[in-house]
Amino acid sequence: MTYDPDNIFAKILRGEIPCDKVYEDDHVLAFNDINPQTPKHILVIPKGAYVSFDDFSEQGSEAEIAAFMRAAGKIARDAGMIESGYRILANTGRDAHQDVPHFHLHIFAGKNLGRMIKPPEK
Ligand code: AMP
Repeated sequence: MTYDPDNIFAKILRGEIPCDKVYEDDHVLAFNDINPQTPKHILVIPKGAYVSFDDFSEQGSEAEIAAFMRAAGKIARDAGMIESGYRILANTGRDAHQDVPHFHLHIFAGKNLGRMIKPPEK
């Protein structure tokens, strides 16, 4: 899948639309989800043009991948999520309902998140 430079997160990275930023460094941007599913819901994205986790894990540089993992942990710590816990999720592709084709981690916290994944109602 080729990267679509008009996806919404690319527009956020270019400053064309605003975001509620919580973290930024040379390789990473994080912001609050516009439609939070939990009391705390942060999105973490690489600044590079990667479609998905699969794309990032295969094509990302060592520096980008290291920066991304370090940042994700720091963002959760700085958001006060350590004591009560949090969940990280990366929807990847059709069956996972990935809507935005720029790799992103969801970090969910702020309530009991239940056990793992609930399948859709039939
Ligand atoms: P996914 O289904 O994993 O691709 O998740 C995309 C996420 O992006 C959803 O949780 C949306 O609420 C979120 N989202 C979409 N547009 C924006 C935006 N402009 N600012 C912040 N979050 C957004």
